[in-house]
Amino acid sequence: MGIEPNKLDYLVLSKGNFEILIRKLLLVRRYRVEIYVAEGSVRACEWTVKYKGSPGYFSQLEEILGDGLGSSEEQAPCLMAVNIKTDTVTKGRLLGVACVTPGEYAMSVSEFTDDDLLTELETITVQMAPSECLVLPTDNEDYKYLKKVMERANVTVTAVKKTNFSTEGLNQDLNRLLKFKDGQQQDANAFPEMSKEVAMTSLAATIKYTSLLDDNTNFGRFQLTTIQPDCFLHMDAAALKALNVFPELGDTNHAPSRSLYGLLDRCRTQHGKRLLAQWLRQPLRDINLINERQDIVELLMNNTQLRQQLHEDHLRRIPDLQALARRLTRKKANLQDCYRIYQAINRLPALLQCLAEANDATLHSSLAEPIAELNNDLEKYQQMIEATVDMDAVERGDYLVKPSFDEQLQSLADQLEILQSSAEKELNKAARELGLDAGKTIKLESNPQNGFNFRVTLKEEHGLRGNKKYTIIDAVKSGVRFKNSALESITEEYLQTKSAYEKEQDKVVTEIIGIASGYAECLRGLSLQLSRADVLLAFALAARAAPAPYCRPALSRAPHELLLLGLRHPCLEVQEGVSFIPNDVVFRRDSCVMHVVTGANMGGKSTWLRAAGCAALLAHAGAAVPAARAALPPLRALAARLGAADCERRAHSTFMVEMLEAAAILRTATPDSLVLIDELGRGTSTYEGCGIAWAIAEKLATEIKCFCLFATHYHELTRLASLHPNVIVNSHAEASVVDQQLVLLHKILPGPATQSLGLHVAKLADLPDSIIQYAEEKQAQLETNLFEVESAFKSEDNTEGQKLILDFLHKCKEIHNTISSDDEMLIEINKLKQQMLQKDSKYVQALMSTL
Ligand code: ADP
Repeated sequence: MGIEPNKLDYLVLSKGNFEILIRKLLLVRRYRVEIYVAEGSVRACEWTVKYKGSPGYFSQLEEILGDGLGSSEEQAPCLMAVNIKTDTVTKGRLLGVACVTPGEYAMSVSEFTDDDLLTELETITVQMAPSECLVLPTDNEDYKYLKKVMERANVTVTAVKKTNFSTEGLNQDLNRLLKFKDGQQQDANAFPEMSKEVAMTSLAATIKYTSLLDDNTNFGRFQLTTIQPDCFLHMDAAALKALNVFPELGDTNHAPSRSLYGLLDRCRTQHGKRLLAQWLRQPLRDINLINERQDIVELLMNNTQLRQQLHEDHLRRIPDLQALARRLTRKKANLQDCYRIYQAINRLPALLQCLAEANDATLHSSLAEPIAELNNDLEKYQQMIEATVDMDAVERGDYLVKPSFDEQLQSLADQLEILQSSAEKELNKAARELGLDAGKTIKLESNPQNGFNFRVTLKEEHGLRGNKKYTIIDAVKSGVRFKNSALESITEEYLQTKSAYEKEQDKVVTEIIGIASGYAECLRGLSLQLSRADVLLAFALAARAAPAPYCRPALSRAPHELLLLGLRHPCLEVQEGVSFIPNDVVFRRDSCVMHVVTGANMGGKSTWLRAAGCAALLAHAGAAVPAARAALPPLRALAARLGAADCERRAHSTFMVEMLEAAAILRTATPDSLVLIDELGRGTSTYEGCGIAWAIAEKLATEIKCFCLFATHYHELTRLASLHPNVIVNSHAEASVVDQQLVLLHKILPGPATQSLGLHVAKLADLPDSIIQYAEEKQAQLETNLFEVESAFKSEDNTEGQKLILDFLHKCKEIHNTISSDDEMLIEINKLKQQMLQKDSKYVQALMSTL
């Protein structure tokens, strides 16, 4: 609207700003981008799409924006596709998921049945962290939930046509793309993954969408694996958010106090940063693997010299080997890239020496050995670079091939040298003729475009005047540039030879890159090992930088207790001005699986929950824990429902979201899960909310028997502890009134919170005495009533009373059938109520008095 036909609104951007814009659109806003280029004349308005990119795949855009795109991000872009079918046998919901990370030549698939909330899909999405998901749009509920799962995980959903999910030709495509091991049958069908039919339809969609087959550098490189979500601690998007594992999308502030990632990211290498993000999404469950990481982190925490040498010297100058390896594979690398790789490999012996000096068995087998092996494999690469690259030129910042490496190049170099000396002879001749001093008052210069020229200062220019032998090229402040015919013909020959030299050099460089690309796999391996070292070091550095000591968590297979003693919140304790009060979390299978946590607002309840979640996550990722002592079993899932701020933004009412999330927890929690719930039931009326919170807490503690911290403002829930002794205990955030001031101590202590605190606060707020007195009476009355209900519940009268209520409800139902107006109905119901009360049942009376 408002735009004249054939006229477009436009904005002119510099190349740098254009790159920033595209980067932001793709990686932060997660938009799809199409770049149109004018064919022929711009005036004819013939614009065609030349480049396309989407958050999950933008190889095409790398061409115009350079390889840096995405490589410095936390994760190489991953594209996911999901297809949902009905299982013909179980009639359940069968999901086929495929993920492709072109930058890492990785394909992975999974096929599983899922519940109606697509919980398993959410777990996989959190672990794989795709930036885009391809789906088949339908109008059923599954599609709605799928979109919600992706929305929660910040994944762009792209609807594609059904034909994209067709597996026709998939076999041939995979035969070209997959990397087969030596001696392995060269047939994709030999992979067990191929039997997952629905997952294969998704894989087909990702291959088509990314046009992997259009780029022959992709051939024979991809690995196909099965996604194994059970190898990792299950977390969903809500848990990641509740524990502030990552900064918000687009938040460039990676301050340690804002997210766990920000706290731990002390990585020196880009690949280390990406691996750290992956480890936080994929905390391990295998005790041996966790202990392997913990061993090294503990060693690094205790060995200051090793820590400093690795951080300050060895890892500091390692370039992004993964990105360089990718450039090699795609034949986009240049001689400088090859030299950077050479330099990095050259540093390995010193790094290995430093690791060896630590004299530690785990460090040796888990890091030093694999690095040493890769170093050996790369020996020939080093020799090649030494034989081919002109190291003297590198000193000057030029990346050139050594002429002696190639006969043709050498003969061209010799010719250039001869021409250079001929030009110098001409200089001497000209100096004699003009009576000048060669190299001082008359100089020989050369530049790549115009070749040789002489130069004199403006002062000497008069000697040239009228001299037909010399032609002036230009005269500027700094002097007069001129030439003669002999110099001109030398120049001509020189430029031709130089161009032949460059062509020949390009040929040799292409050959070098070709050979170097054979080492790409090795470099990827090296990059992984170095980034492992980098992340483990980052864990140790973060622990050492904390205001109070971290400890190594003990993971034991005997899952009867979970202890976090003297626990702190890792991000909160590093905030300026915070003096953190440590607290204990103690779960014992036989005496306490749930803490019902009460206490004043701002008392420190949710901080306690978050600290426990962070500690569990850190322990499973292999990091040290901000506590005096930590002992826990390997957990299956970590679920957290904290804070409602983000719910309001969504279309759902808070209540609906809470119920859905609670349902998901109830369905997926297992005895070896840690569940953190804060303020459940807020989105509805007090009675309903309290009832729902009660029911969920009871189910979690008594049926599912997971470890659970349940923070609530419903004081009624504190009674659960006496109903289920040895299962549920009360804890509270301690607060007290000192000198007429409410002091929040942030100490979590056993037992329920004292309720009278609210009245203290009211007194402090100078509410009129009459109101406070009334409130005190009301509170006493409520407590008595509750006591009566409780004793009536326990008495013999209980069953009799229930019968009366059932009878009452039946009668109510009958009047509903006979009476039409609401007023009449109310009168009838009141009559029935009076009749029931006259029966003099304590149970009924107690129940009615609470309403
Ligand atoms: P609640 O969930 O009980 O309303 P929070 O856990 O949100 O309370 O805590 C409120 C504030 O109190 C936090 O933002 C933090 O600044 C401070 N706090 C909480 N726990 C501690 C602690 N253990 N030590 C120091 N400060 C704390």
